[in-house]
Amino acid sequence: MKELIFFDPFFKEVLWGGHKMRDFYGYLIPGDDTGEAWVISANPHGQSLVRSGSFKGQSLGQLWDEHRELFGGMAGKEFPLLVKVIDADDHLSIQVHPDDDYAFRHEQGSQGKTECWYILDCDQGADIIIGHHAQTREELRKMIDEGKWDDLLRRFPIHKGDFFYIPSGTVHAIRKGTLLLEVQQNSDTTYRLYDYGRLQNGRPRELHLRQSMDVITCPHKDENTIKPAEDHGSCETCTLVEGTYFTVSRWNVKGTFSTEQPYPFMLIDVTAGKGAIDQTPVKAGDHLLVPSGYGTLKIEGETELIVTHTS
Ligand code: ZN
Repeated sequence: MKELIFFDPFFKEVLWGGHKMRDFYGYLIPGDDTGEAWVISANPHGQSLVRSGSFKGQSLGQLWDEHRELFGGMAGKEFPLLVKVIDADDHLSIQVHPDDDYAFRHEQGSQGKTECWYILDCDQGADIIIGHHAQTREELRKMIDEGKWDDLLRRFPIHKGDFFYIPSGTVHAIRKGTLLLEVQQNSDTTYRLYDYGRLQNGRPRELHLRQSMDVITCPHKDENTIKPAEDHGSCETCTLVEGTYFTVSRWNVKGTFSTEQPYPFMLIDVTAGKGAIDQTPVKAGDHLLVPSGYGTLKIEGETELIVTHTS
């Protein structure tokens, strides 16, 4: 089918949210504490809706259930991926996600969660937490028990355009002043390890220390997943990760670039600039699905795209 499917996001207001999505993309956010936009989501907790065209007003979940041909007849009860934009105006809790096997056994058959982050913008001096310094599980438990969070957690400065791959089992946290794009398995299973001792409505949020200890990879394993950029003349492409669940690339288009869509589906997040795909205008903040059998895509303009397909 030769039709691009654009989505309107589902927004979530949270204590740590802000209003950068309105400032940057003109989104009609519900309030000044909007932390998450589920921009390509078939998750029952917040679906994105088709913005225009033949399927206008339908949810991605509905397309998955009723029009599996758009996804090349791909198998599976649920659409496999979830894409979010996250605006952190405060620190998020330190957390970890289980893998498929653990989630299946302990979370009523749910999926695990592997995710990745592309930094869209950040404040000067902003940082992020990925992994920990404990060498053994005993050391990990001791440092958690003693609350030695500064010694335990690995903190890195971040810059616009940085990319982080976060396989299940990796301790991680988004920190204050970060706007990012998240591509993840379609799952909600999160174990909270530490919440900076904060209170919500007068009480601390629930922690999941036992489950966290079960699933944290120890010692932490570091993996550089980013491949060298490839020059295609009017487009520079860079594979950010070729993982078990998704392959994510960055395309920087300058001029006219034509390419094929050979996958069951392809997701495109427009992260900067503007242009057109097969004559349909696109701009930063647009998120779309290119269905199965679409054929050749002609992209024009000066724009940065994050392109995802299942591996
Ligand atoms: Zn996470």
